Amino acid sequence: MISPFGAVSNQARARESADYRKSQIRIRSKDSVERWESSMGEAKYYPVVRAWLEREGYYCGGFIENPKGKPIYYQNKGTKRLRIDVAGIRNVGTSLMDEIEVAAVEVRDVDSIQFRDIQDASAYSQYAHKCYLATTGIIDKQDKEEANFLGVGLLKIQSQKIKEVVSPRLNIPNHARMLHFLNVLDVSQCPLCGCFFETYRVGSRDYRSFYAIRRTKYFNAAHDYPKLDVFEKGERKELPGNYKIRRYLCRSCMEEFFPQKIGKEANAADS
Ligand SMILES: [Zn+2]
Repeated sequence: MISPFGAVSNQARARESADYRKSQIRIRSKDSVERWESSMGEAKYYPVVRAWLEREGYYCGGFIENPKGKPIYYQNKGTKRLRIDVAGIRNVGTSLMDEIEVAAVEVRDVDSIQFRDIQDASAYSQYAHKCYLATTGIIDKQDKEEANFLGVGLLKIQSQKIKEVVSPRLNIPNHARMLHFLNVLDVSQCPLCGCFFETYRVGSRDYRSFYAIRRTKYFNAAHDYPKLDVFEKGERKELPGNYKIRRYLCRSCMEEFFPQKIGKEANAADS
């Protein structure tokens, strides 16, 4: 598979040999956790669904490896509150502006799908541009109508193959919520250049693809803590977590604009 993130990978690889780099990449997830392998049978269909998304032009992870050297894909990922069976991302912007399209797939290994399954898949429309329900079960006329009504795409999984039975509607997700979802996949948007990228660290060295900054939800803080100077690091630390904002600058912006800051991310991230 040719990764749409190939350009990024190639730039990075230019810094050191691919082999060395491959052996050194270790993810330390910021706050997302890989869900334990599902005890349900559906997990075995994730790779098939992912392969289908990849054929459709989506990048589904795999560039970053876990500590055991296994590629981490955008499958079976998430937190307690927000988890995803399979997801993919592709660039759909222009040469002047980066825009992405996010596809989210809910997988159900059932005899026949219920309206609730379609509803579950449609819940991703808050975060993703395209929502799919992939199932091993029977898809009847009513299922198709309901999926159409909710704008959910239906994928039929049959003998390790995928057939698109209903095409999804293109949603415009809430941007903040989409970023929240992308964070689960360790993907961020650089607030400086606006480009989307994967946030990772290289294990044995002080190499990160991102630089973390902390900011404040200014108006909420001004309303609830009028005496606090949110621009003063020490005072800002007093604020509860729900008043704080995390942004991740991309490595390219750091190298171009703030090279003196590179390697000092840890201090910034903790403040
Ligand atoms: Zn940038």
